[in-house]
Amino acid sequence: MINKSLKELAQALATKQISSVELSTLFLDRIERLNPDINAFVTVDREKTLAMARAADARIAAGTAGPLTGIPVAQKDIFCAEGWTTTCGSKMLANFVSPYDATVIRKMHSEAGMVSLGKTNMDEFAMGSSNETSFFGQVKNPWDRTRVPGGSSGGSAAAVAARLAPAATGTDTGGSIRQPAALCNLTGLKPTYGVVSRYGMIAFASSLDQGGPMAASAEDCALLLNTMVGFDERDSTSLDRPVEDYARDLDKPLNGLRIGLPKEFFGEGCDAEVMAAVRAAIAEYEKLGATCVEVSLPNSHLSVPAYYVIAPAEASSNLSRFDGVRYGHRAAEYTDLNDMYCKSRAEGFGPEVKRRILVGTYVLSHGYYDAYYIKAQKLRRLIAQDFAAAFEQCDIIAGPTNPTVAYGLGEKTADPVQMYLGDIYTVAVNLAGLPALSHPAGFGAGGLPVGLQLIGKYFHEANLLGAAHQFQLAT
Ligand code: GLN
Repeated sequence: MINKSLKELAQALATKQISSVELSTLFLDRIERLNPDINAFVTVDREKTLAMARAADARIAAGTAGPLTGIPVAQKDIFCAEGWTTTCGSKMLANFVSPYDATVIRKMHSEAGMVSLGKTNMDEFAMGSSNETSFFGQVKNPWDRTRVPGGSSGGSAAAVAARLAPAATGTDTGGSIRQPAALCNLTGLKPTYGVVSRYGMIAFASSLDQGGPMAASAEDCALLLNTMVGFDERDSTSLDRPVEDYARDLDKPLNGLRIGLPKEFFGEGCDAEVMAAVRAAIAEYEKLGATCVEVSLPNSHLSVPAYYVIAPAEASSNLSRFDGVRYGHRAAEYTDLNDMYCKSRAEGFGPEVKRRILVGTYVLSHGYYDAYYIKAQKLRRLIAQDFAAAFEQCDIIAGPTNPTVAYGLGEKTADPVQMYLGDIYTVAVNLAGLPALSHPAGFGAGGLPVGLQLIGKYFHEANLLGAAHQFQLAT
């Protein structure tokens, strides 16, 4: 049961081979045994999980079950879930119990009937690429427990990779679904901006944040995505579009698929072992009937600088709500209101979050706004235009997800710029709002996983998932 796909689990539940309570207990026991070492979950609540599983079993017995009813899933701790501690990886929210459900949580649990196994560890406020900024400690990569799982959805990735959960949610502002998926040998998809509601998903950089699925395969991601999407009047950037079946292209052969290879993604800056695995995966796509064309994303080298202006700017504004007044950490002692704000924020936020707030406040301040923020917005437009031009020549763009395999815990924490540069292949996608996924592409040195990134045109999630599924069937 631990290694079954979502489709197989759904079958096992439908044919009464196992109940949701039994299945959930299996995973809860495994979490109890292995999580103290991996640290993928920050909150587990057996009683809550089993109550959801009992409700799912009742739905299955009554014949009112949906396709994933009764299947357990892990939730990134950025999603507010009623009655559950929702920390966002921060001391600031360490004791915050959400009074309401995020739309994603409501859809997956109340509507689809999936069972929550708990909340997963993450970089503090999703700021990081290695899960090392979490107030709740680092997460170990199950493939090598001396290495990072990637971030910021590192707990979700490690949970699925260690089979503490069949699947999980993540969020991706600059790569936080795709990068940990790559480093933990999973498939993870960041949808087109506006497809998954951000209501109740604690905001980092609102114009970039998107929730999405992380699982063992593209097929699992497609089924999971089906439960997450839909127009939401509570999110002003939610898109009102017809509901799609993201599994519809899974059986579509790859004949005629045109894959664009940006020359900027295949030059220097990527480890040779990663490049070799990525090239071998692309050759496999060609064997399956795809053709490759070279394309160019001439401004892609500017995506990291643009992102690290825009994302902190939005974060500095979003995080101003954590002032110790209504909720979140409040300092025990203070002299006046200003002192209370200062002490609460100084104590509640970790160093990386403070760095982002400082950078963001700086680039938005009088005299620097035009030089940094407006300039970054102009780059953002150029980067989006590069993709539009490239997509005139191809259907999908492919390249590495990460420039390296998983690195050692603590290896990059002293050098934020080094850490930020690891986002070189993923942030442009968020700046443009495009959908992209990462799927396993083989292994580099030391048997560590390598991810292949596929970037699609707006709303072509089904297309990406279909291509990845065909690759996964063949490999
Ligand atoms: N690594 C990037 C950052 O630290 C992206 C994080 C994310 O996607 N949430 O900002």
